[in-house]
Amino acid sequence: AEMLNHGAESRAVGRGDAPAQPPMLALTGVRKSFGGTEVLHGVDLSVRKGEVVAVLGPSGSGKTTLLRCANLLERADAGTLELAGERLDLASATPRQAAGVRRRTGFVFQGYNLFRNRTVLGNVTEGLVVARKVPRAEAEERARACLARVGMDDRCDAYPEELSGGQQQRVAIARAMATDPEIIFFDEPTSALDPELTGEVLGVMRQLAEDGMTMLVVTHEMGFARNVADRVVFMEDGAVVAEASARTFFDQPANDRVRAFLHHTM
Ligand code: ADP
Repeated sequence: AEMLNHGAESRAVGRGDAPAQPPMLALTGVRKSFGGTEVLHGVDLSVRKGEVVAVLGPSGSGKTTLLRCANLLERADAGTLELAGERLDLASATPRQAAGVRRRTGFVFQGYNLFRNRTVLGNVTEGLVVARKVPRAEAEERARACLARVGMDDRCDAYPEELSGGQQQRVAIARAMATDPEIIFFDEPTSALDPELTGEVLGVMRQLAEDGMTMLVVTHEMGFARNVADRVVFMEDGAVVAEASARTFFDQPANDRVRAFLHHTM
C-alpha cells in the first residue's frame, strides 16, 4: 500500500535514495509453549512500512498466538521483536518495554473489546487521555476525525450495545488508529460478525491500507487477502510454511499444503 499522508510519515527518514530502512516490524525465532506443548516453533515474520501482510492458515496453526506474542499480550518463550529498528527480547521484556510496544502499536481484536460503559467517543478518547495524557479537547478532536474515517462520527454519543457488531468493530478500528500507531495488528477482525456486516469492516480496513497504514492481519477472508494484502504468510502447525506476494500465493501456490488449504477454503 502506498504511503499517503499518515502521521507515521514524519518518522520516516526520506525515501528513494535513503539507505534501506529497517522493516517496521520484524519477528525472529518466536517460540511459545502452552503446558509443555510448543505451538510456535521459531517463527520469523517481517512487515515493511506501509505494507499489509495477511497471515493465513488452518485453525490452531498459531496465528493468534503469534500476534499476541508480537504485541506482548502473551509472553513468548524466545524470540526478538524489532519495531522500526528498535530491538527487544520478547522473553525477557520488562513491563515497561511491553507497555512501550503497546503504546506504539494498535490491536484490533476479534470481539471488539470496547468499554461497555463508555460512549463511542469515550472509547476512542480514553486511551489518548489516560495513557498518553493528551488534553481532552485535543483527544476528542482526534477521536472525531478517526471516527469520521470509519464512518462512525454520527454515532459519537451511542453506547456499544446500541451498535451492530460491524459498527462496534469500526469503532475499535478508530480507537486503534487514534494513537497514530506504527503498525496495527488485526486478529480475525470479522470472524465474530454476521456475513452481511463483514463487508463494512473489510471496507474500512481496505481504506486504511490505501491510506498507507502498516498492517498485520490474521484473517480467514480470502478476498481481503487476495485484493488488499501485499503479501501472504501461511502458517501450519506453529511454523511459516509459505510466504509470497498475495498474487503469487493465490495464483501459483507454493506447495501442496497451500493448495489443499485454498481448495478447502475457497
Ligand atoms: P490460530 O489462531 O491459528 O487458530 P492459535 O494461536 O489460537 O491458532 O492456537 C495455536 C495452538 O495453541 C492451538 O493448539 C491452541 O489450542 C493453543 N492455545 C492457544 N492459546 C492457548 C492457551 N491460552 N492455553 C493453551 N493452549 C492454547
